[in-house]
Amino acid sequence: MQGKVYLVGAGPSDPGLFTRRGEEILKRAEVVVYDALVGQGVLGMIPREAKLINVGKRASHHTMKQEEINGVLVREAKAGRVVVRLKGGDPFLFGRGGEELELLRAHGVPFEIVPGVTSALAVPAYNGIPVTHREFASSVHIITGHRKAGETLDIDFQSLTKGGGTLVFLMGVRSLPEIVRGLLAAGMPADMTAAVLERGTSAGQRRVVAALGELEDEAGRQGIGTPAIIVVGEVCKLAETFGWYEQLPLFGE
Ligand code: SAH
Repeated sequence: MQGKVYLVGAGPSDPGLFTRRGEEILKRAEVVVYDALVGQGVLGMIPREAKLINVGKRASHHTMKQEEINGVLVREAKAGRVVVRLKGGDPFLFGRGGEELELLRAHGVPFEIVPGVTSALAVPAYNGIPVTHREFASSVHIITGHRKAGETLDIDFQSLTKGGGTLVFLMGVRSLPEIVRGLLAAGMPADMTAAVLERGTSAGQRRVVAALGELEDEAGRQGIGTPAIIVVGEVCKLAETFGWYEQLPLFGE
């Protein structure tokens, strides 16, 4: 019997943001291969009998190499199992979902894709930041701030700055100083509003909003860690007025 791989987006953390299609499939899973960024609430929906494989990747310690992950998916599906490849946010946004599909295709393994709510949009939303707004920004750019050890960032700060849209950097906490420097050097005003949003949509959600020129100091003072996204643009000003999540009666529980 031929198995199948479901590439499923788990959303940013809050289990309420996991799609119904994702949940339906997860309940039928025989093998679940998941990342570090999948929220506890979603992990709690995995059937008890399913085999769990944690390939959790966080900045400093790689648990499993991409080739090994690909190998596991192919092997388990070829053994006839229902395999769910569960990824934080949306599987195609900086999730290497495309690379995994290439191998599945090459081995003739059938697959389906279930999009997820991406942190790039949901984390600002949970912090009261609309990424576009008629008065402030008519485009939004999602950029990876990931940089390999010893290398510099390959980002076109000039065009990002010229574009005038909201900038959302994922995987950028460690390169925050370099991102800020790059934007300032490209002519972004030092008093442009920016934010670092940590552990969004979870009980531990925190945010720092500051002028771009002070963002690094402020994030350092508050000890902001990963996972977090960096947002640059006037829309960040709205967080103060629109911030709503921390005001929920059970916030932090
Ligand atoms: N596919 C994912 C992104 C993978 S890259 C998505 O669509 O959301 C991993 C990066 O996503 C992290 O480094 C961080 O920048 C961001 N991220 C994911 N979950 C987050 C969360 N709950 N809060 C803040 N940032 C998050």
